[in-house]
Amino acid sequence: MKFDIVVVGAGMVGAAAASLLARSGFTVAVVDHQEPSPFSLQEPVGLRVSAISPGAASILAEAGAWRQVERQRHCPYRRMVVEDREETVSLDFTAAEFGLERLGTIVENTLVQWSLWQSLLTLGGVELFCPDKVAGLEYVDGEPVVSLESGATIVCSLLVGADGANSGIRKLLGIKQDHWEYGQRGLVSVVQTATPNNGVAWQRFHEGGPLAFLPLSDGSSSIVWSLPEAEAVRMLELDEDEFLAELDNAVAGGEGHWPDRVTACGPRAAFPLTMRLSKSYTASRAVLIGDAAHVVHPLAGQGVNLGLLDAAGLVEVLVSAHNRKVGIASEKTLEKYGRWRRSEAELMAHGMHGIRGLFIPEELGLLRRLGIGLISGSWTAREAFIKRATGLNRNAPALARGQVLTDLLRANTG
Ligand SMILES: Cc1cc2nc3c(=O)[nH]c(=O)nc-3n(C[C@H](O)[C@H](O)[C@H](O)COP(=O)(O)OP(=O)(O)OC[C@H]3O[C@@H](n4cnc5c(N)ncnc54)[C@H](O)[C@@H]3O)c2cc1C
Repeated sequence: MKFDIVVVGAGMVGAAAASLLARSGFTVAVVDHQEPSPFSLQEPVGLRVSAISPGAASILAEAGAWRQVERQRHCPYRRMVVEDREETVSLDFTAAEFGLERLGTIVENTLVQWSLWQSLLTLGGVELFCPDKVAGLEYVDGEPVVSLESGATIVCSLLVGADGANSGIRKLLGIKQDHWEYGQRGLVSVVQTATPNNGVAWQRFHEGGPLAFLPLSDGSSSIVWSLPEAEAVRMLELDEDEFLAELDNAVAGGEGHWPDRVTACGPRAAFPLTMRLSKSYTASRAVLIGDAAHVVHPLAGQGVNLGLLDAAGLVEVLVSAHNRKVGIASEKTLEKYGRWRRSEAELMAHGMHGIRGLFIPEELGLLRRLGIGLISGSWTAREAFIKRATGLNRNAPALARGQVLTDLLRANTG
C-alpha cells in the first residue's frame, strides 16, 4: 500500500494533522494501537481536560471537530488570574480588554479525540490502521516503509510521528531529546466550590508548584496541582475530607477572594511532569509533531495547543511545497517546518521552565514580584503574553490566525 503520508498516533495532535492533511488533498494512513473511547454526556466529566486556545480551536474547526466539541460539554473562559503565593501581586486578564470573545475553552480530552476520530471516519483519502502498531521502519529507494504488527506494509513519501511523549517513531528515527525531570506530579481532580466558577481560569504559585482551577460548564472546576513527588503521593492517599482541608488551605484568600471554600471533590489522579525537547523535529522523510516532539510543563496549559500549532504549521509548509511543485518530503521543506516549530517550542519550554523557576524558590520573592509587576503594568507585555497564550501571535500558523484551509490551498495555487 502506498500513501503520501503516514501519521503514527491519533491522539489530539495526530488526528488533527491527519484530518487537515486529507482535507488538503493528500492520501493519509493513520496508525494507532487503540481507538479513542466514545464520549458520552452520561459519563461524569473526565479527569483529563485541556485549555484550548482560540488559535488551536480554529485549527480544530478546520479539522472538522470544533463544531462537534461546541455542541457537547465545554466551557469558555473569559478571565485569567495568576497570583503570587503571598497574593501581593497578580496578573489579571480579561478577553474583552484584548477584543477577544474568549481567552480559551476548557474541554475534555476524550471529547476532542472522539470528535476528531468521527471526522476522520467521514473523510475520503484516509485509511485507519487501528488497532495496530508499528513493528519496524526501513527505507527502500529512499522512501519510508512502515511495517505493522498486523502484517500490513505501508510505503509513504512522508512519515509523521505523533505517538506522544514516549514516541517509538522518534526512537526509530534516532532523534535525541533534552530532558528535564521536575520530580513533580500534576494532581488532577474535579472540585466544587461554595461559589461556582463563572468562567475564570485561576492559578496560584505555591512553593511546591502552581495550583490551577479551570472552569467547567456546570460551575465546578478541574484542578491541576503541581506537587513534589512525595507530596503528590500523600495527597492521593488522603481521604476526601483531609484532601479538601489541604486544598482549602492552598486557595485561602482574603474577603471576596475566589476560589472561596472547596466543598467537594471527585476522584484524584496524578501524572509525572517533565520537560522534553527533541534536538531535531525532522529526519530523512520524517517529522515529529505534538508530544512526540516536545513536552512542556502544564502550568500554562500549552502542551496540546503547541502540538495543534505544529499540525497546522506542517500542513501550511506541505501545501505550499506541493503547490510550488517542490517535494513534500524534500530536505528543504522539512527543514522549514522543523526550524519554525522547534524554535516556537523551545521558547515555550524554556519560558515555562523559567516561570516555574522564578515562582518556586522563596528567595526569589522580590524578583518574582518585580516580574509580575512589570508584565502587569505594561500594555505591550500584557498583549505579547496574551497573544502567545491564545495562539494568535504573528509566528503562529495561518490556520490558527483565522485563515481557512480553502484560502490556504487557493493562496498557494495563485
Ligand atoms: C496534568 C496535565 C494537564 C495538562 N493540561 C493541558 C492543558 O490545559 N492544555 C494543553 O494544551 N495541554 C495540557 N497538557 C498537555 C497535553 O495533555 C498533551 O500535550 C497532549 O495530550 C499531547 O497530545 P499528542 O496527541 O501529541 O499525544 P498523545 O495524547 O500522547 O497521543 C499519542 C497517540 O499515539 C498513540 N500511540 C502511542 N504509541 C503508539 C504506537 N507505538 N503505535 C501506535 N500508536 C501509538 C496513542 O494511542 C495516542 O493515541 C496537560 C498535561 C498534563 C500531564
